[in-house]
Amino acid sequence: MAPGGGARHIGRMSLAVAEADPLPLEAARDILRRTFGHSDFRGLQADVIAEVLAGRNALAVLPTGGGKSLCYQIPSLVRPGLGLVVSPLIALMTDQVAALVQSGVAAARLDSNIDLDERAETWRRIESGELDLLYVSPEGLMQPWMLDRLRKTPLALIAIDEAHCVSQWGHDFRPEYRMLGRLAELFPNVPRLAVTATADARTREDIRAELRLEGSPEFVASFARPELILSAERKRGNVEKKVVELVTARPNRSGVVYAGSRDKTEGLAQALRDAGVPALAYHAGLDKRIRAERLEEFLEADAAVMVATIAFGMGVDKPDVRFVIHADPPAAIEAYWQEVGRAGRDGDPAEGITLYGAADLSWALRRIGERDVDETVKQAQVRKVRQLYAMLDGSSCRAAAVRRYFGEEGVEPCGQCDLCLGTVETFDATEAAQKALSAAHRLQGRFGRGRLVDHLLGKTKDVSDWEAGLSTWGIGQELSAVQWRDLTEQLLFEGLLREDPNDGRPLVGLGDAEAVRAVFRGERRVGMRKHPEGAEARAPRKGRKGREATQVGPADQALFEALRAWRASEAKAQHVPPYVIFHDRTLAEIAAAKPGSRAALARLNGVGEAKLAHYGEAVLQVVGNFG
Ligand code: ADP
Ligand code: ZN
Repeated sequence: MAPGGGARHIGRMSLAVAEADPLPLEAARDILRRTFGHSDFRGLQADVIAEVLAGRNALAVLPTGGGKSLCYQIPSLVRPGLGLVVSPLIALMTDQVAALVQSGVAAARLDSNIDLDERAETWRRIESGELDLLYVSPEGLMQPWMLDRLRKTPLALIAIDEAHCVSQWGHDFRPEYRMLGRLAELFPNVPRLAVTATADARTREDIRAELRLEGSPEFVASFARPELILSAERKRGNVEKKVVELVTARPNRSGVVYAGSRDKTEGLAQALRDAGVPALAYHAGLDKRIRAERLEEFLEADAAVMVATIAFGMGVDKPDVRFVIHADPPAAIEAYWQEVGRAGRDGDPAEGITLYGAADLSWALRRIGERDVDETVKQAQVRKVRQLYAMLDGSSCRAAAVRRYFGEEGVEPCGQCDLCLGTVETFDATEAAQKALSAAHRLQGRFGRGRLVDHLLGKTKDVSDWEAGLSTWGIGQELSAVQWRDLTEQLLFEGLLREDPNDGRPLVGLGDAEAVRAVFRGERRVGMRKHPEGAEARAPRKGRKGREATQVGPADQALFEALRAWRASEAKAQHVPPYVIFHDRTLAEIAAAKPGSRAALARLNGVGEAKLAHYGEAVLQVVGNFG
């Protein structure tokens, strides 16, 4: 018998049969409906599932919230044997297992938090063939005794979740993921499916090489996230105050605020609490137990705001996050899409709002300069940072810019980001830019931004004879101080000016010489945004289609709230997050449809058989009370 322990599978013959046979996919669809309560597959799910059902390896790249987990969960249920899922984080496993159990699936996890009794029971279920899905960590799986035991078990598939962890080019690199390449020879007859949301070609190449998926098909979904409403604005004034304003304009919603340092997360969380928002800070400097507690509190809350560093990320599968605010900008467009992508996973509208400034750009560039890596790697990183700021400070659709960055072609504007809504107008500021660049040149990189602006306006305090004698002194009367500051900032974003950190008192000098020359020759135009306040991220406006969190008509609001209250008490009793019982969207559908029978309830999205059996009566009763 093959070392995979598999009496099943796969010669070429059976492959051909599987390919021609539509039945497995029908079985998959049936499970999608009955167990998970969804009416049809989304995006590339059906293609990926068909591939795995045919016993072949694959790599699937789907955006966050794209429904990656069903791609391995369903084949695990259709194919005989145990579905093995490798996952990098306990929180992620816990969440998925809880949700599966709610849907009536025999799923369990084996990780360092599981006690001996439960472990023994799980192994009993594995070996008796009762278990359908087992979640393990990479280091847990690769222990020799574990591998030995699993090799005696028929496996339906091996899924490697968050597969980008294998690559140094991806985020969240996890060295222990590299060991997973050995699964190819250890389980040669078991289909392996790698899934991730990190798309770039380089990471994909690494995944294929490291996980031995050469020659397997790649399924790459569109990176469109139509539910995300994007906006960005330059930092002005007090960022903390701005964040409090943005959050308090979105009451009773769950959100994530990303900040660049541990101190800032603490400060922002406190400021939000002072404003009456239930906010928690989260960063790697906190005790592990406190972090776990806060994560749990956030996941289980109906509305809470997590103020976090990027230590908070992978494994945060809360589907009803309604906004992600970057109080400091992300590291690159990949990180942006992943972090903003944590909003709106349930498919309902959600916002991504980014605050950024030229100081953030300078800081990012300086950090790259200080890194102990190859010059070519540095250049690649600098390019990525520049591309991020070009998107943030640009003037055409943000969603389209991101998708093009990921290599999508023929992308249409999203029609709902701040830039699509046409609130940003630009005017030609090439002449002003020439003045600012000349001034920076004449001042010989000896002063900061404020002084450059004063110089252009001829307003420098206690000006020296030398400075007052320069030809650029006071030549900038056509713009206000605010406009000059804006333009200076933009020139920094465009790399025409450069800031020298100078121990926290940055000095402005000329940037890329070739580009500066092009501006002077008039070959490169500088378009400037018309401020003020036009591009500001606003609170969600009522009445605009798609802007409300979950669509509940005013007449159904009371029933919706009653259903949420019932769900909250049920979740509390079971110690699970509310959304594993029913998503907001399902409750909204129930509130609108007001089902009078189990059959009517079963027809709604998100109501599978197990949930109908468990909660059907209770839900019908809540609805009945409103009859
Ligand atoms: P991710 O790709 O981020 O891991 P998940 O697998 O967690 O995404 O799925 C995101 C959400 O989409 C989940 O709430 C899931 O229930 C829902 N979902 C997945 N597939 C479908 C589908 N075919 N129809 C409706 N909802 C789906
Ligand atoms: Zn747009």
